[in-house]
Amino acid sequence: TRNIATSSDKKAFEEAAKRLKLDAENQEKLIPRLRIESRRKYLEKRKEDKVQELEADILDDEYLFADEELTEREKKERSHKRKLLELAKEHEKARELERVQRYHMPRDVKDSVNEYEEVDDREKKPNYEQKKWEEEQMSSAVFRFGAKNKESQDREYDLVLDSQIDFIRALSMPGTKEKPEERPMTEKQKKRMTIEETQKSLPVYKFKDDLIAAIQAHQVLIIEGETGSGKTTQIPQYLYQAGFTKDNKKIGCTQPRRVAAMSVAARVAEEMNVKLGNEVGYSIRFEDCTSERTVIKYMTDGTLHREFLSEPDLLSYSVMMIDEAHERTLHTDILFGLVKDIARFRPDLKLLISSATLDAEKFSSFFDDAPIFRIPGRRFPVDIYYTKAPEADYIDACVVSILQIHATQPLGDILVFLTGQEEIETCQEILSDRVRRLGTRVKELLILPVYANLPSDLQAKIFEPTPPGARKVVLATNIAETSLTIDNIIYVIDPGFCKQNNFNSRTGMESLVVVPVSKASANQRAGRAGRVAAGKCFRLYTAWAYKHELEDNTVPEIQRVNLGNVVLMLKALGINDLVHFDFLDPPPHETLVLALEQLYALGALNHHGELTKLGRRMAEFPLDPMMGKMLLASEKYKCSEEIVSIAAMLSVNSAIFYRPKDKLVHADTARKNFFLPGGDHLVLCNIYKQWADSDYSTQWCYENYIQYRSMKRARDVREQLVGLMERVEMEIVSNHGDTVAIRKAITAGYFYHIARLSKAGSYKTVKHNQTVMIHPNSSLFEELPRWVVYYELVFTTKEYMRQASEIESKWLLEVAPHYYKPKE
Ligand code: ADP
Ligand code: MG
Repeated sequence: TRNIATSSDKKAFEEAAKRLKLDAENQEKLIPRLRIESRRKYLEKRKEDKVQELEADILDDEYLFADEELTEREKKERSHKRKLLELAKEHEKARELERVQRYHMPRDVKDSVNEYEEVDDREKKPNYEQKKWEEEQMSSAVFRFGAKNKESQDREYDLVLDSQIDFIRALSMPGTKEKPEERPMTEKQKKRMTIEETQKSLPVYKFKDDLIAAIQAHQVLIIEGETGSGKTTQIPQYLYQAGFTKDNKKIGCTQPRRVAAMSVAARVAEEMNVKLGNEVGYSIRFEDCTSERTVIKYMTDGTLHREFLSEPDLLSYSVMMIDEAHERTLHTDILFGLVKDIARFRPDLKLLISSATLDAEKFSSFFDDAPIFRIPGRRFPVDIYYTKAPEADYIDACVVSILQIHATQPLGDILVFLTGQEEIETCQEILSDRVRRLGTRVKELLILPVYANLPSDLQAKIFEPTPPGARKVVLATNIAETSLTIDNIIYVIDPGFCKQNNFNSRTGMESLVVVPVSKASANQRAGRAGRVAAGKCFRLYTAWAYKHELEDNTVPEIQRVNLGNVVLMLKALGINDLVHFDFLDPPPHETLVLALEQLYALGALNHHGELTKLGRRMAEFPLDPMMGKMLLASEKYKCSEEIVSIAAMLSVNSAIFYRPKDKLVHADTARKNFFLPGGDHLVLCNIYKQWADSDYSTQWCYENYIQYRSMKRARDVREQLVGLMERVEMEIVSNHGDTVAIRKAITAGYFYHIARLSKAGSYKTVKHNQTVMIHPNSSLFEELPRWVVYYELVFTTKEYMRQASEIESKWLLEVAPHYYKPKE
């Protein structure tokens, strides 16, 4: 029989579990919203620990002593422990199901609270009865858990609780199509739809001729149209067909995101039936996929910014489209000023500013009242649901919501907005695990991630049609908010967060934090559910939070990030008076001043604010000024070979180490094998060198728990950097392991990022006395040297320094005399 534990065991265990839960609940109240991410991990860990600890304990014990060697009492103890473990596992399983039950999917909205807008009367809608019936059938049909034995019959989980509604429908986002007259296309229909038919079905298609006429008539045109209407993929093709690429000119189109530039270029190449990189290409940082033949070029806004350095009048372009202008990235904002200026002395250059939302008026007035071309939207209504109470653990809430939708709602794909790669991977892992456990009780669920560092072959997968009878769930960063359109999304799950780079102009510190999205973002996200049919958006926060806690609009990046890089570029373009630069929204004055100050300290500007020779060389590199300085300083310390590897490894910006869950110990040992005295930068250099010595072997990566893809990317980046170093006439030389020289070169770039040890193992930054910690993954985590230089700060529960190396304080006087003065 399965009920093996005595009742007192059971009671004790339940009590402990309850305490644990209470504990967690109390904490929840204390921890502000922003910290949710780390809290989630903490809870996740604790939960796992309980079972795992017990398990480990038993295994250890069994390893040391065989059953025969034990006394009677010890034997009893051991079997008691085993029982407890089984019980704990049972509990886990039960909780699993409990969690799945926690939500109640909307079926009837009559009694829902309507706080802001009138809830339309769904019963009047056609198909309502039919739909309701279908939904009910779905929900009762799917979750009748296996009746294999009596045991499980006792626990027959009917997933839908009738007594409670956790999601409240409060607002309906009206579509332009009142009633869903079109049903989503079946897969068969879709397959039959050729590229040409798809093109013709896009809203922009009807306006092709008018649009070309408007572009011919006006030098600057603002284009506004709902996401997915075909602006990015179609307009450059129209221009090409209309002859804008005659006389050897190109059509350029900027994107705020790398993934979008690559994916859209691939799509357009496919539509035009050409090889990517020939007539249609893309160019992003560290990767140029264009050729002599390229006439339609997609690029990131940052890449175009750099192109100004080599071609200040953009003479090779006949049209420049600044796309996704509403995203207001730093580079897009700067481009506005630059292209506006160019348009004055290049009357033949056409400028298109395209945007998804209602900022068109603002763009128009900035561009001297340029006309606005509106592409009428086409959107089905989207019902919006809020949770009744705040969700502390939004990853878990996402998983539950996905499963609930999958179990209770008609087929149609799901789009989930998460903040980054790590979160997406966690969610994917938990979700796959649960789906696997549910086995054949649910229909097939395809789980597809998409984020910036995902290799492009995997990115392409999200666009593949969902097989019949299955459902696709796309776990995306806010890249899917407007940049990428995935067809057939009917459900959107929005936890309400995104990752933002925030710069504190008071402390001059920049860090990556998870912040609540704006109302505008939330509505964009919701809108993604209404492209092919009436959709539903589940917000994992309360209606109150939406109304009171979310800002109306996202603050443009230019007003919240470090401007060092941009200021250096503008100076290199000969724009000296930055205060009077034509900004759409000017950056805060102090941020500008800080950037100038930093460039001065780095030696890139002289005391008149003019670019120095060093500054001009730094501007050649598509790198943050600090990293640029580090690279150039390696010349003096004769270690450019090592420093360029370090720069490449730091630029990869995704995990180097691979930690499979079932081999954590092995992976961590492998990681520690790379440790060298001195710190993480040297470790990075060491990894790169060993990999290069293995002749860039995949097998080597596999054996050492290193991510091959990250390394491959580091190699590409390194090659590019070496090319640029040759251009500024730097020699690539090695100092063969003089780590002091290497660390001095690093410090010469990163002397803003210095911290010194204070009591209790924490650090204080030198300039602002802020408390920071060494990241647990760091090779210095147990060393705690007195002085460290770090690459970046990451905020989770605390400010953590990522990639830290030990330095000596006296080096600071040597490498940064403008910044550090000896004590008198
Ligand atoms: P907009 O720029 O107005 O938001 P897009 O031009 O990006 O619209 O998208 C138009 C259509 O092209 C959408 O239906 C989208 O699904 C499709 N599309 C875009 N990129 C791809 C891709 N990589 N693969 C398949 N379809 C794509
Ligand atoms: Mg677009």
